[in-house]
Amino acid sequence: MKYSDKNKPMVCMMTQSTCYRQTKKMQIKGVLWHSTGANNPTLKRYVQPDDNAADREAMLALLGTNAYKNDWNHKTVQAGLNAWIGKLADGSVAAVQTMPWEYRPWGCGSGSKGSCNNGWIQFEICEDGLNDEDYFAKVYKEACELTAYLCRIYGIDPKGSVDLNGVKVPTILCHADSHKLGLGSNHGDVLHWFPKFGKSMESVREDVAALMSASSAVPTDQMPVADKVSDPEKYIWDYLMGKIGNAAGVAGLMGNLYAESGLKSNNLQNSYNKRLNISDEDYTRLVDGDNYPDFIKDKAGYGLAQWTFWSRKKDLLEFAKRQGKSIGDLQMQLDFLWKEMNDSYPAVLVVLKGADNVRQASDAVLLWYERPADQSEAVQVKRAGYGEKYLKKYDEGSVPSSSGMSNADCPFLVKVTAEDLRIRKGVGTDTKWTGKYVPPGVYTIVEVKDGKGSEAGWGRLKSGAGWIALDYCKRV
Ligand SMILES: [Zn+2]
Repeated sequence: MKYSDKNKPMVCMMTQSTCYRQTKKMQIKGVLWHSTGANNPTLKRYVQPDDNAADREAMLALLGTNAYKNDWNHKTVQAGLNAWIGKLADGSVAAVQTMPWEYRPWGCGSGSKGSCNNGWIQFEICEDGLNDEDYFAKVYKEACELTAYLCRIYGIDPKGSVDLNGVKVPTILCHADSHKLGLGSNHGDVLHWFPKFGKSMESVREDVAALMSASSAVPTDQMPVADKVSDPEKYIWDYLMGKIGNAAGVAGLMGNLYAESGLKSNNLQNSYNKRLNISDEDYTRLVDGDNYPDFIKDKAGYGLAQWTFWSRKKDLLEFAKRQGKSIGDLQMQLDFLWKEMNDSYPAVLVVLKGADNVRQASDAVLLWYERPADQSEAVQVKRAGYGEKYLKKYDEGSVPSSSGMSNADCPFLVKVTAEDLRIRKGVGTDTKWTGKYVPPGVYTIVEVKDGKGSEAGWGRLKSGAGWIALDYCKRV
C-alpha cells in the first residue's frame, strides 16, 4: 500500500467552501467513487488552497494556480468532497484530501430511500477525454490506493456490505450504484468510463482487497536510537528520517535548522543574548519557571527553528506545558515541529518526502517554512550546503562517487539502488521530468553532462528514455 500513517495523502483543506463550514459529521461506513463528467484532468480546476493558508504559495506550486478562480473552495459552490484525484502541476497524478474524512460530503445527492452522503467518504476523479489508457491506469491505481488506506484506518471490509435505511449497500460503490439503490441522484459516474478499460466497481473491490492483503504487515514506527543528550545531531537525523523517510528531504530541513540555531534546542537569538544580557540557559530556566512573562511577545527567535512570531511561540509554550517538558527540550521541539509541519505546512512536507536533491528540499523549507528576512540566492546556496554535509555524513548510500563516470568513460554501466530516481528530459533538475522513474537495476550510460542538482553530473540512458542524476548511481 502506498499510503499509511507515516505517508498520508496530500492535504489541502478547502475550509472556505460552504460544505466544509456547514456540513455535519458522520459515522463512516464506506467509500464512494465519483468522476467529474468534464474533460479537465487538472486538480487546480477544482482544488485550491485557502486565501490565508500558511502554505498557500507552496500548495499553489504543487497544484498549479486556477486563473479563473472557479475552483470549489468558495462559499458559492454547493457541493463538497473529502478528496480529489487528478494531475498536479508537474503532470503527475495524486490524491488530495480537501475535508476531514468524517465530514459528511455533499456528493451523491439522494434517492427515494435516502443518501449515501450519510456514511460514505467520497472523492472525485478528474476526467480527461476518456480515451487515454495511461491516465486512466494512473488515476484508477491512485483511487484504489486511497480507498485501501481509508479501509485500513476505518476497519472497512472492501468486499463487505452494510445496512442503510433497510438497504444492503456495498462498502465500496460509485455514484451510479448509489442511484440504482435509491440512495443517490441520477448520475452515471463512474460506469460511463471504467468499462472502456476493462474495469468495474467489482474489480475495484478486488484490487483494493489485494492491496490491503499484500501489505498486512504492521509497520513499526522506528524510534530514534541515538542518545539525545550526547549526540543531538544524530538524534535529529534519526527522528526526522523516521518521519520523512527521504534522506534528501531530511538533509534539506536539517541544513535550515542548523542555519537557524546551530541545532541547539535552547538557542536564544544571539542579538537578544546581548540585549537582555542573558545566556541561553538562563533564558530557558526563566521561561520554565514562569518567571519571564514576555516569552510570547518579545520577538526573540528561540529553539531549533528559531520560532519568533508570537502565535508560534505561544503554541510552542503551550505544547511544552502540555507535555510537561522544558521549553528547551529537544524531543518536545521535534514533536512540535512535526505537528506544525503537518497542521500548517503540508505542502512543504510533500516536497520533503519527494525531493530528489537537497537544494530542492532546502529551498522549500527556507522559502515557505522559515521565511527569514534574507532569502537570497546566496542564502539558498549556503543552507543547501549545510544540508549536503548532513547527507554525506548520515546517508552513506547517497555519497556521490563520480570516479569513472565522466563523458570520457562512456559508455559505462551504473547500478541504481534508489527506488524513485527520476528520468528527466534534459540535463538538470530544472528540466522537465518525463513522468517516469528508473526501476532499481543496472543501466548503460552513453553520455555525461554537467547540470543543476547533481554533483556527479547527468547521465543519458542508452534506452533513450532520458537523463538521470549520477549522484544516485554507482559505477559497476
Ligand atoms: Zn458523481
